[in-house]
Amino acid sequence: MNYGMHPGWIEVISGVMFSGKSEELIRRVRRATIARRKVQVFKSHLDSRYAGLYSVASHNGTELEASPVDSAAEIFRLVRPDTEIVAIDEAQFLDGQVVRVATQLASRGVRVILAGTDTDFRGEPFGSMGELMAVAEMVDKLQAICVLCGDPACRNQRLIDGNPARYDSPTIMIGGRESYQARCRHCYKLPRRDEDQTALL
Ligand code: ADP
Ligand code: ZN
Repeated sequence: MNYGMHPGWIEVISGVMFSGKSEELIRRVRRATIARRKVQVFKSHLDSRYAGLYSVASHNGTELEASPVDSAAEIFRLVRPDTEIVAIDEAQFLDGQVVRVATQLASRGVRVILAGTDTDFRGEPFGSMGELMAVAEMVDKLQAICVLCGDPACRNQRLIDGNPARYDSPTIMIGGRESYQARCRHCYKLPRRDEDQTALL
């Protein structure tokens, strides 16, 4: 793909879990490999409990080798001078520096592809995804399928022991007692501490 005369831009693949972000990232990287482009793939270390540590894995079973990183600065250090494409999965887990790193790589001619969950279990912007979507040339926002009604799904319902997690549960849970379902806006539930929805009025 060529976006213009000069190489170097930012693409964001956003959406909830199960919306096909990893699938799409893998597809773009495969095509770049067919085109014999020099590609490097990274993913946040934080995701290691969901999938194999050294791979980007889609829920549909396809996989791609990736280098796990702890920080955005580490990506910047690991990118080789002749790399043409940098793909980053689980970008929502990376620190705020990821915006600067993506911008600098794009300025020096690298095609930067970032995939990440744009909203957390509360339906609020996740990490730097909002800012990345703002500075990117291209943004794709994917939807999953609501497991309750079958409509397009834009939320991740966090369940703890089978019940909807409350608003005040932590953004990233350590230990993995929770599970997630893709749901549409209308089937999604987020109990608040005081159940006081009238505070919004
Ligand atoms: P993401 O990276 O956004 O979490 P993946 O690429 O890992 O998405 O997974 C997408 C795949 O997940 C789909 O192709 C489908 O096979 C599977 N899947 C499982 N549950 C759902 C769902 N509720 N909605 C859509 N796809 C689902
Ligand atoms: Zn629904």
